[in-house]
Amino acid sequence: MEDCIFCKIAKGSVSAKVVYEDDEFIAFHDINPQAPVHILIIPKKHIPRLCDTEDKELLGKMLILANKIAEKMGILEDGYRVVINTNRNAGQTIDHLHLHLLGGRIMNWPPG
Ligand code: 5GP
Ligand code: ZN
Repeated sequence: MEDCIFCKIAKGSVSAKVVYEDDEFIAFHDINPQAPVHILIIPKKHIPRLCDTEDKELLGKMLILANKIAEKMGILEDGYRVVINTNRNAGQTIDHLHLHLLGGRIMNWPPG
């Protein structure tokens, strides 16, 4: 998608602090971190929202990748949170599927 900032990051035409990349996914630091570790994991393919896909393999891989990156970032044992904001009430602001991986501090529950 031409106007999508995350597609541009996936293509490399917009820079980001990348922590992981393969053929299907790229993971990078959030520009406005909400925790000491705040990584966004995205499929390179433009899928607007979680509710726009039933691709079990892709979604499964994304979650497993979150575990791997949590380990790489040193937050696996202490704990981490994965969040996929979907649509307006959840606060989705970028219409390209992305998983937030947050850690490095104690998380409150319920979330805001
Ligand atoms: P959402 O609110 O849609 O769940 O999350 C979008 C996230 O993308 C926000 O946490 C925001 O800080 C992050 N973000 C928006 N634009 C950019 C950007 O250009 N680069 C990076 N690294 N993160 C971005
Ligand atoms: Zn996109």
